[in-house]
Amino acid sequence: MAKTLDKVDVVTVGVGWTGGIIAAECAKQGMKVRGLERGKERGTKNYAMIHDEYRYAIRYELMQDLSRETITFRNNLKMRPLPMRQMGSFLLGENLGGAGTHWNGMTYRFLPYDFQIKTETEKKYGKNKLSSDYLLQDWGITYDELEPYFDKFEKTIGLSGEDTNPFWGKRTSDFPTPPMKKTPLLKKFEKATKDLGYHPYMVPSANLSEPYENPDGSKINACQYCGFCERFGCEYGAKSSPEVTVVPAALKTGNYDITFHANVVEVLKKGNKVTGVRYIDTQTGEEFIQPADVVVLTSYIMNNAKLLMVSDIGEQYDPNTGKGTLGKNYCYQIEPGATGFFDDQMNVFMGAGALGMTIDDFNGDSFDHSNEGFIHGASISFTQSGTRPILSNPVPSDVPVWGAEFKKASIENYTRSLSVFGQGASMPHKNNYLALDSNYKDRYGVPLLQMTYNFTEQDRNLHKFITDKTVKIMKEMGAKKTEGGNPLTDYDIVPYQSTHNTGGTTMGADPNTSVVNNYLQHWDMENLFVVGAGNFNHNSGYNPTATVGALAYRTAEGIQKYREKGGMLA
Ligand SMILES: Cc1cc2nc3c(=O)[nH]c(=O)nc-3n(C[C@H](O)[C@H](O)[C@H](O)COP(=O)(O)OP(=O)(O)OC[C@H]3O[C@@H](n4cnc5c(N)ncnc54)[C@H](O)[C@@H]3O)c2cc1C
Ligand code: SF4
Repeated sequence: MAKTLDKVDVVTVGVGWTGGIIAAECAKQGMKVRGLERGKERGTKNYAMIHDEYRYAIRYELMQDLSRETITFRNNLKMRPLPMRQMGSFLLGENLGGAGTHWNGMTYRFLPYDFQIKTETEKKYGKNKLSSDYLLQDWGITYDELEPYFDKFEKTIGLSGEDTNPFWGKRTSDFPTPPMKKTPLLKKFEKATKDLGYHPYMVPSANLSEPYENPDGSKINACQYCGFCERFGCEYGAKSSPEVTVVPAALKTGNYDITFHANVVEVLKKGNKVTGVRYIDTQTGEEFIQPADVVVLTSYIMNNAKLLMVSDIGEQYDPNTGKGTLGKNYCYQIEPGATGFFDDQMNVFMGAGALGMTIDDFNGDSFDHSNEGFIHGASISFTQSGTRPILSNPVPSDVPVWGAEFKKASIENYTRSLSVFGQGASMPHKNNYLALDSNYKDRYGVPLLQMTYNFTEQDRNLHKFITDKTVKIMKEMGAKKTEGGNPLTDYDIVPYQSTHNTGGTTMGADPNTSVVNNYLQHWDMENLFVVGAGNFNHNSGYNPTATVGALAYRTAEGIQKYREKGGMLA
């Protein structure tokens, strides 16, 4: 029998960036907020001995335990979905801070074009640029409407950067801190891309270039370029993460607490309102009901979608009929790129998660797509994030991938190779979606989330186009031998690619085509908010978190409005 706890004003499911932002903003407004986090507490003090590649980057100690819960996957509707038993293509966060603890910190705002992609595409290229199999949608909000919230997120995290990119949206204020150091390798990329006529700029970085105190009074330190950033927590407190920014800001109000080891299994509802959530204590197995006036799902796209599905909230998308919105528009990204092999040794050891330079000359709609078999594009970057020894074995393709020759070439090229890569946008396709699995359950008896996904024609065309650009840049950087990545085939969930999953709980102006409105308020349940990259209608050519953070700030404002007036906010 579940024990019912005292009611709170707001409960969040999960405490990563989205849960932390909602908590800080609502608690500052005097609401009693409780965060339910299925993982444990952790923070800077736990990361003193973290430079252990095997334990953290390969065995994923900071991340979700797949023996408790995972997803099932198939490439298409005809295949049998099977569980992902080991983390691969993407890495799921768990514990305080979520994936915001072990992210890189590359923090781009999506482009103005992204938010009105359908309108803009049709205006410029007509209605049939992509076939009707691609479920392109505007987001129900414009870049200009979201700009103040981008600004707020950047000031909270102290983002380091420079406003020299001609292709991104207008900013109302400058970056809170200056860009990171421009290393000799970054200068190599900068010169090559400038010589080719492109527009390089420093990656906006949440690894801070200098010490910073944010408007909430949280202090973030200066990055030491330690090279163990992606997949690791920062022992210097220099990577903006929920545990060093929004979570302490929320706790400081006295209106916030977090229950750890609390795995939420259901959103409870009555009529057109939710009443709270049911969770299981993962240490004792006890069951609890947490009543709340407002429930906010902040448990990443996979779990947000799954909780709505198991709680029977909203209509599940059906790829055969096109009906329903929940689970629709799941998108991923493509990573075309080129590797260059050089004669001289280079310092590839030092670095930081978001130390790099980027060009947007082939991103969004910054170039003419009239003669291309795709829309959108990719940011193209060179990053120096610290080459770790176990996972990095760069060898030219004519060298065998085992044996003495491989070892010799791997050692030789470890400090003599560089890569340039694109983060390619992904467009929604009618056959790519999320649903509930009918066979497999998690440790708590709840069905697993099922993913049906494959790369599309649009992806393949874009991949080829961007690969060619990266080869050209690498040659210009002076590589003695340059190799472009292989053409895109079927999506494979095993090798790591990117943790930029989007869609499934999309936002929009119309309940017939989206799950939540532009305050991320559920169309069917007015006191339920669903926050995360699941709200994206497609995936852009950038990392997602600035856009997720901006949407979370706007949601917090929406919750405040809802508390005052009730009803639908949009
Ligand atoms: C290796 C890596 C590198 C990345 N680098 C970048 C980058 O450079 N730039 C960028 O923009 N983005 C990056 N990302 C993505 C970024 O980390 C995410 O966009 C961001 O952290 C998402 O925040 P979130 O709050 O939506 O979810 P999460 O951070 O995943 O937090 C969700 C929380 O919910 C909890 N939870 C889940 N289910 C339940 C449940 N049933 N009950 C209770 N709690 C639950 C989880 O334990 C977790 O703590 C990276 C991600 C990874 C893994
Ligand atoms: S690279 Fe910088 S931000 Fe990243 S873990 Fe090291 S010191 Fe921290």
